[in-house]
Amino acid sequence: MGSLADLHCHSTFSDGRLTPAELVDLAYRNGVRILSLTDHDIVDGLPEAFSAAERYADFTLIPGIEMSTDVPGNEVHILGHFIDWHNPTFLARLRRLQESRLNRARRMVERLVQLGKPISWERVQFFAGEGAVGRPHIALALVEAGHVTSVNEAFSLYLSRNGPAYVTRDRLGPEEVIAVLLEVGGLATLAHPRELLAAGNLESLLAVLKAAGLTGMEVYYKDYLPEEIDTFRDLASRHELIPLGGSDYHGLGGPQQKEPGDIPLPIEPVHKLLALARERGALERARIAHAR
Ligand code: AMP
Ligand code: ZN
Ligand code: FE
Ligand code: FE
Repeated sequence: MGSLADLHCHSTFSDGRLTPAELVDLAYRNGVRILSLTDHDIVDGLPEAFSAAERYADFTLIPGIEMSTDVPGNEVHILGHFIDWHNPTFLARLRRLQESRLNRARRMVERLVQLGKPISWERVQFFAGEGAVGRPHIALALVEAGHVTSVNEAFSLYLSRNGPAYVTRDRLGPEEVIAVLLEVGGLATLAHPRELLAAGNLESLLAVLKAAGLTGMEVYYKDYLPEEIDTFRDLASRHELIPLGGSDYHGLGGPQQKEPGDIPLPIEPVHKLLALARERGALERARIAHAR
């Protein structure tokens, strides 16, 4: 049932509910043996994830990140795997993104006050904890204040891209982000392409991103149906992208949530990713299983 690999998961260092160590434990219990922690625009959870991985001899951990990017009218998320997450230029860039997230979240809280749905900045900070603040933390504060009954409702009424409390933030374009990831030796994968398919320009975007150095696309993602998986596998194959995937586990519940590893990702494309990382000299940045 579960997959041996899950290449897209979040922790408390962004908007996930589990600490990196708890995530590693849960993934391992679920049968995952190759995991990547991919928090939003932050790598600060990786040291904890790597030490937790030491508990398991037969466990591979790939350092990862999920970066938000903008194209006109839409949001594009790019996963970076095998990144050199100690690179000082990269870390400085991520710090600037964190600041921009903070400013944007403050402005969204102000909007909500103006909309008659007041929440306090302190509660948003509480839910964000030590990590990167994001809209899910604002959603949790809205639920707590009784303005909405669920995180999903908070998004559909206020926080989604077209919602009344939405504020944009500094973001790079997807090609720039791919360049940033390649600079730190990472392999770039387009995350959850369904929204982009609906917007109608996925084919041309894929051609542009492939030329910029994209090597993978999520196909086996969270709740994608078998026929969607077929569509995206075909697209990936035509654009010569490795068909990857992940649960995008956040642990916040909701109807679409999948547990770590609860996706039909086959092992062959994951081995292709590992082989490509080896070719590029990036494999050493992963913690590879001792036992095979
Ligand atoms: P941010 O990074 O602050 O723009 O927030 C984006 C995150 O919000 C995504 O990674 C998802 O985890 C979450 N999100 C986006 N849309 C929804 C939704 N409709 N319901 C619940 N969570 C969502
Ligand atoms: Zn998230
Ligand atoms: Fe995402
Ligand atoms: Fe994600």
